[in-house]
Amino acid sequence: MKIILNANETVLKILKRFKKTDTCTRMIKYCVKTHTDDGVLLFNLLTRELVLLTDDEYAHFTELEYLRDRWFVVPEEANEKEYMSFIRWFLGTHRKNLDTITGYTIFPTTDCNARCFYCFEHKFSKITMSRETAVKIVQYIKKHSGGKRVWLYWFGGEPLFNREVMDIICTGLREEGIEYSSSATTNGYLFDDEVVQKAVNLWNLKAVQITLDGTEEVYNRIKAYIDSEGSPYQKVLRNIELLADASVKTTIRLNIDLHNADDLMSLANELSERFNGKKNIKAYLYPLFRNNEPMAELHSEDEWNLREAAIERIEEKLMERDLLHTPKLARVIRESHCMADRGDAVSIFPDGNIGLCDQYSDPEYIGHIDSEGFDFGIVESWRETVPEVPECADCFYYPDCIKIKKCGISSVCFPFFRRLRLKEIKRAMAIEYEKWKADDLTENDDVEINLH
Ligand code: SF4
Ligand code: SF4
Repeated sequence: MKIILNANETVLKILKRFKKTDTCTRMIKYCVKTHTDDGVLLFNLLTRELVLLTDDEYAHFTELEYLRDRWFVVPEEANEKEYMSFIRWFLGTHRKNLDTITGYTIFPTTDCNARCFYCFEHKFSKITMSRETAVKIVQYIKKHSGGKRVWLYWFGGEPLFNREVMDIICTGLREEGIEYSSSATTNGYLFDDEVVQKAVNLWNLKAVQITLDGTEEVYNRIKAYIDSEGSPYQKVLRNIELLADASVKTTIRLNIDLHNADDLMSLANELSERFNGKKNIKAYLYPLFRNNEPMAELHSEDEWNLREAAIERIEEKLMERDLLHTPKLARVIRESHCMADRGDAVSIFPDGNIGLCDQYSDPEYIGHIDSEGFDFGIVESWRETVPEVPECADCFYYPDCIKIKKCGISSVCFPFFRRLRLKEIKRAMAIEYEKWKADDLTENDDVEINLH
């Protein structure tokens, strides 16, 4: 047996309060298994440990003392949900409550140079941040970041449609001696050589997410850029290369609905050819549902299956050229769903209003940069989780699953999503194992963008 990733020591210590009998007879429900050429990989989502067993060891896994000691193998009567509730309760006692804020989603504008029909921003009025507000944001960050390094996440609208305030904020932070890095969700159109240089040198841009809606003709029709010249699609692909060559991790989001699988397959082919060997470029599929809203309606079983098969085909194509984005296996137990319930992150809208979720406006504001204090009633409301469903009792994903009631994107659970998660975790396990084999564990790859 080989240990590929060590267990989380805090979790192991917390688990000491649970006594195990000597008769451990079954695998813990939170263990994911996948086969490799060298044996069987096991990942324990409770302890975050990844091990490799030979086929022979796997055939007798209940007899391995190490697996019993490390919570891979547990007594028949073990109650995994009890373990998790205690761990969550313990971690919850250290929960952050906006005392120090190190994550700032900033909306330079809610306006955009594209006119995508599906854009959620249609429900926002178009507001552009003023220079004065940008200057105040620097002081706000200074006051609330507790001297720590901060992460800026540019969002919009199209954030680069108001680059001036991005410059003002970053210049101000630099002058104040506040360390920062940033990432952005952008359509990618407004970059060029000069802007990429500024993004790297002034904005400290480490990662971007860019959505491609389809192949050239489809993309250009859907995006309907104002004031565009030539083919916006070609321009954006070129900008993706510029960003990746400047060491900005570039993640391409491919929106898949019920009708565009063939076009996305053509796009995946094209991206695979063009970006072959570019390690800073990855792509992933994001399912859109009826009415172009995730979860807006349930689909028939046939529709789920068709969607899943299409995603699998396109992912395989992306994987052939190492282009598929796969989230890393987290080394710690997940304590929050996203920035909205983390307790150390806020969104700042163009008019200086402060919220938690980057997709909600007016009634959900918790404060304003011109005043101190937050509406903790609203803060708490973003921490309410949805009731469990019967499937949670045996679900491998339970340790990583936090669904908040107010999140329109992920408050519902479908077998389709559990299957996608399972595949994703298996891929991540295989990637960790390959890295371990290549003795490449020193790679610093911790830049993650907020993927919706
Ligand atoms: S939409 Fe959901 S995942 Fe995104 S920030 Fe809001 S609560 Fe979080
Ligand atoms: S909500 Fe769904 S994914 Fe989450 S633990 Fe329950 S069954 Fe699993």
